[in-house]
Amino acid sequence: MKSSLQASPAPAEQALNQVPPLTEYNLFLTDRTLTEAVSREGAEWAAPHISELGKLLGTEEAQSWGFEADRNEPVLHTHDRHGNRRDEVVFHPAWHYLMRTSVEYRLHSLPWLEKRRGAQVARAALLMITAQNEAGHTCPISMTFSGLAALQAEPELMREWSPKVLSSAYDPRFLPAQEKSGVLLGMAMTEKQGGSDVRANTTRAARIGNSREYLITGHKWFCSAPMCDAFLVLAQSEKGLSCFLLPRWTPTGEKNNFFIQRLKDKMGNRSNASSEVEFANAWARLVGEEGRGVSTIIEMVNHTRLDCAIASAALMRQSLVQAVHHCSHRQAFGKLLIDQQLMRHVLADLALESEAATLLAIRLAASFDARESDQRQRAFARIATAIAKFWLGKRSPVHVGEALECLGGNGYVEESLMPRLYREAPLYSIWEGSGNVICLDVLRALSREPAALDALLDEFRSAKGKDRRLDAYLTRVEADLTGNIKQALKNGGGEIETQARRLAESLALALQGGLMVQHASAEAANAFISSRLSGDHGLTFGTLPPGANLNAILGRMT
Ligand SMILES: Cc1cc2nc3c(=O)[nH]c(=O)nc-3n(C[C@H](O)[C@H](O)[C@H](O)COP(=O)(O)OP(=O)(O)OC[C@H]3O[C@@H](n4cnc5c(N)ncnc54)[C@H](O)[C@@H]3O)c2cc1C
Repeated sequence: MKSSLQASPAPAEQALNQVPPLTEYNLFLTDRTLTEAVSREGAEWAAPHISELGKLLGTEEAQSWGFEADRNEPVLHTHDRHGNRRDEVVFHPAWHYLMRTSVEYRLHSLPWLEKRRGAQVARAALLMITAQNEAGHTCPISMTFSGLAALQAEPELMREWSPKVLSSAYDPRFLPAQEKSGVLLGMAMTEKQGGSDVRANTTRAARIGNSREYLITGHKWFCSAPMCDAFLVLAQSEKGLSCFLLPRWTPTGEKNNFFIQRLKDKMGNRSNASSEVEFANAWARLVGEEGRGVSTIIEMVNHTRLDCAIASAALMRQSLVQAVHHCSHRQAFGKLLIDQQLMRHVLADLALESEAATLLAIRLAASFDARESDQRQRAFARIATAIAKFWLGKRSPVHVGEALECLGGNGYVEESLMPRLYREAPLYSIWEGSGNVICLDVLRALSREPAALDALLDEFRSAKGKDRRLDAYLTRVEADLTGNIKQALKNGGGEIETQARRLAESLALALQGGLMVQHASAEAANAFISSRLSGDHGLTFGTLPPGANLNAILGRMT
């Protein structure tokens, strides 16, 4: 018989004051900013679909896929046991669950299939909740979604590939596309000598006779998700840098000369395989006009940049959710953390940043919806993509870092979601154009596309009249854009480049301020404007001005 001492756990083994797991919640329905934005922007028709996914992603099982896929990294098999080339990456089953779910819920295809208002916003909401659960697998999902934008430049290829790209069947088998029920697209631009300046690419494309078929030879330093079925590739042909579609298998059903050299040992994004690849006379088809590869692939890049903005907002949202959950259950000094005044300041500040991020990402997605029929929205999307990608990519790592600290030491431990979110966050600023490159793109849009400037000014005008501090900020930014900046852009030279980050920041804050006064609560808009636009804020989160209405701001969270 056990003694009573043996029956009860030793004091050190009692899990006192530990936080219950955050499971069985709906990632969509619990996000008021997102649900409101979805109905405001014409995507109400998709709400049941998004909500269904939101519920699934909140289950313990779906959460475990993210942890498993991250822990059990993909493995490259360059050769089979007989020494033949294999060039296959093998993934943990959890990766396949994630991929299957995202394909079935049409994260890769919705706006291409549903030609109706709100389709981009609906898909942005799907991505926003999915990236909160596991962001790594959204890389091939995003590239597939975006790749179609480039393929449109080649109608014959579009006709051939789009039915399988748009399929809701996830088919991970390594087989020729003809034998599969669904296929995925990737992209390979970056080379050893540089990713920002793709004009320096040395990969060569040799034309086969007079056809639109080419043989590609060269090396790509980053090629993510190499198990995709075909890749948009940049290579130098006779007429200059051109865009190609390079499948893993040739049309005659042989493996293409696509050799995976190794997988990158990455800081984060570990569930996803990112590789170095060698092409040795790999068969490919020209996409768009020969010699105009950058302008062909830029349509794909713009869509992936949209996704970078959405994913950054997603990481901020999930960090906030985790931080608020933890602080709502953990006590210190006799009170729940969420009731400690200084912690309330930190959480409210994080909430404001997250709300403004979501509003900006969804506003951007809405402009992608409208840009098909509205030139003004097209011009807005052009410049707002760069602004949002830069700003949200920069805010997210600091935001996640601060949210992680709200969990104390528990946030630093892999069993919490926080390290995974933290490692993922800087990626969205690096790929698809790193911070400086994107800021220079903002300058490029302003100097070369007058419609982009006009669209931005229109957007600012529509936010005026609701808060005089915001009005003053917008007037200053407008004066800058139409005065100093315009003049400096005209003069050319390097001087204007030194101001590119300051400018991109101010434009992002102007957009966010406008969105907050229009769509957030009065208390949140007020705190956002006094802290971010009127300068009543420190350099860290948790430095909101004393009068900020923390109860109202945090009230929207619970
Ligand atoms: C995990 C991961 C996956 C990736 N997957 C893919 C993929 O699937 N396909 C693909 O093609 N690429 C991929 N990339 C590559 C990525 O797009 C590049 O890393 C990125 O474009 C930057 O290129 P780079 O690394 O060569 O940096 P560089 O071009 O060398 O730039 C280094 C730094 O210099 C800055 N810089 C560059 N030019 C200027 C300038 N004129 N003025 C001021 N600053 C400047 C940049 O902003 C950057 O901060 C991936 C990268 C990562 C990390």
